Amino acid sequence: MLQCLKRRFEKHVQRHKGIAWADVQARLDGNPKALESLRRMEDSGGEPDVIGQDKATGRFTFCDCAAESPSGRRSPCCDQEALGVRNEHKPQGRAVEMAAAMGMQLLIEEQYRALQRLGEFDAKTSSWVSTPAQLRLQVLSRCCIQVPLSDSVEDWSDDAFWAELKRRLPTEVAGTQITGPSIEKRIAPLRSFVAEPMRWGNLFLAGDAAHIVPPTGARGLNSAASDIYYLYHAMLAHYQRGDASGLDGHSAKALARVWKAQRLSWWMTTVLHGFPDSIEYDQRLQQTELEDLFSSDAAQRSLAENYVGLPF
Ligand SMILES: Cc1cc2nc3c(=O)[nH]c(=O)nc-3n(C[C@H](O)[C@H](O)[C@H](O)COP(=O)(O)OP(=O)(O)OC[C@H]3O[C@@H](n4cnc5c(N)ncnc54)[C@H](O)[C@@H]3O)c2cc1C
Repeated sequence: MLQCLKRRFEKHVQRHKGIAWADVQARLDGNPKALESLRRMEDSGGEPDVIGQDKATGRFTFCDCAAESPSGRRSPCCDQEALGVRNEHKPQGRAVEMAAAMGMQLLIEEQYRALQRLGEFDAKTSSWVSTPAQLRLQVLSRCCIQVPLSDSVEDWSDDAFWAELKRRLPTEVAGTQITGPSIEKRIAPLRSFVAEPMRWGNLFLAGDAAHIVPPTGARGLNSAASDIYYLYHAMLAHYQRGDASGLDGHSAKALARVWKAQRLSWWMTTVLHGFPDSIEYDQRLQQTELEDLFSSDAAQRSLAENYVGLPF
């Protein structure tokens, strides 16, 4: 095991600048528990390597450095609690418990970002990072009601908001709502915008700077992330290999996906929102769209495909 770790350590010096293998080995020699954890990481395809040292304690940090998550560790739930709330398509494993069984912990976001600066990892797979408990509170929800754009947030006290939400929900659902003080309130306009092309000379646009969708389809962050994914790889190709084709094609490639997100958001907005200037004909079409969605497998599949996010 030590030989395997040493070979990897020497092959990837950029991951642990200023750290000598002799010091790492000296600590590992007296720590069979740590060696056993590393063996488990290695056996499951993690390719552990040293990525840092705690200056105060002198302890070294090992982390999985496989380019992509090993096949046996893909698509788990976060932990038992997260698994418990999944009704269908329950994932097989739980990331927190898998790590604990190896004597390891999940990286926190800051560590994951630091790891990404040491090489190219996780470009095709995804990883769980340890999530702060306050971000995972199950009693928090985002609730939306449509209001005239002329309203302001001050017009909507928490009590007024909850009363209006309940009034618009079916009685049996309204009765189950648990309400509490809001932590944030805002009025988001239903607007759509695309800047085309997404490049001007050496200026590259991405995310909301290039395109806005109404919140109905929850596509904004997804589109911003895919823009950056394309741009990141295009920049790598340009700066590392002198290949400008990715940058030249960035706008067209990103826009092809952006327009699909726009279409979904526009469609969901027209189906799910009421508009003050709509005539009876519009309302009947809206009703028919919804009936088609509820009765057609093909329509539901198409919505699901677009809603979970198109591949990029
Ligand atoms: C209420 C609301 C709910 C949403 N819900 C969803 C959802 O459920 N799903 C979804 O996919 N999307 C959602 N979105 C959209 C999503 O948040 C955005 O599409 C996404 O954050 C865009 O990412 P971005 O990096 O392009 O822009 P931003 O996240 O806006 O990041 C831009 C950053 O630039 C900073 N900045 C601005 N000006 C300057 C300056 N001059 N100098 C330095 N920094 C500056 C800003 O402070 C900000 O941090 C929602 C948006 C809102 C407002």
